[in-house]
Amino acid sequence: MDERVLTGDRVTGKLHLGHYVGSLKNRVELQNNYDIFIELADVQALTTHFDKPEMLKKNVRNITMDYLASGIDPEKSTIFVQSLIPEIAELTVYYSMFVTVSALRHNPTTKSEAEAHGYKDLYYGFLGYPVSQAADITFCKAKLIPVGDDQLPHIEQTRRIVRRFNQLYHPVLIEPEALISEVPRLVGLDGNNKMSKSLGNAIQLDTTEQDVNEKIKNAKTDPARVHKNDLGHPEVCPIYAYHRIFRSEGADEICESCKKGTIGCMECKKKIALSINHLLEPMRQRRADYLKKPEIVDEILIAGTQRARKVAKETMREVREAMNLDY
Ligand code: SF4
Repeated sequence: MDERVLTGDRVTGKLHLGHYVGSLKNRVELQNNYDIFIELADVQALTTHFDKPEMLKKNVRNITMDYLASGIDPEKSTIFVQSLIPEIAELTVYYSMFVTVSALRHNPTTKSEAEAHGYKDLYYGFLGYPVSQAADITFCKAKLIPVGDDQLPHIEQTRRIVRRFNQLYHPVLIEPEALISEVPRLVGLDGNNKMSKSLGNAIQLDTTEQDVNEKIKNAKTDPARVHKNDLGHPEVCPIYAYHRIFRSEGADEICESCKKGTIGCMECKKKIALSINHLLEPMRQRRADYLKKPEIVDEILIAGTQRARKVAKETMREVREAMNLDY
């Protein structure tokens, strides 16, 4: 059997180009060589959005649609809903017995995320996020986890949990490894170093051609460039960052022309809008096809969740046996 990969998204909103370059594109390639499990992390969404449960159902379907539009093939990838795998919650409880509160408090990713949300006093579920992530990874015995650098402490926490479990009880769990994504984080339209829906600086994958043109037209550029012949600093411009990612072969030329003041920002923006629309067009077509038969999306979710549940039950049987809980 191919090695298993676990990946997924918290279902807090529709996916955007930052998700595409940072993970979706990679998943579309991985699905050809790995047994890939993709989790719609609705329980984990509640760690920060527990007061907005009404968003979950809508987001689960929207994100599934984003996956399918991006080229994720449900015949090759197992797409499942986290809360429909109760074994994940059970594993989270068992693992929480041997993870100390201070280890969780010192997790750098948790610290920076708490800071970003402005949390002073941490909720138990938020603090325990890395423990539930360990349950996500281990229920399906995933070997590889595609992550960015910022998620490495979480993977390390899972590895510690697995080693502890296997030493204490019986070696039934697989120690996962991080599959580091080489793709840089996509900057926002406002120049913020992260494209994010909550910052209002994103191009979502279901954006129309006209809206892409509009968003790019209004995006920030190098403030030093007022007139076409002003000398530019492409390294501070989000549009140049997009050229590097979406038009790699034309990016050097843009860089030179911007520095010499031989290209205007409008012309530069039109070129990148064209490339982004070129990328999104097949996604729009796939999305339109699925929208004609929305029941297929539900069928895909049911089938993927059933497959994941079968795997979860088998892992749980082994875990319970190892822990003397097999009454
Ligand atoms: Fe940015 Fe292009 Fe304008 Fe240079 S020419 S500042 S890269 S939009």
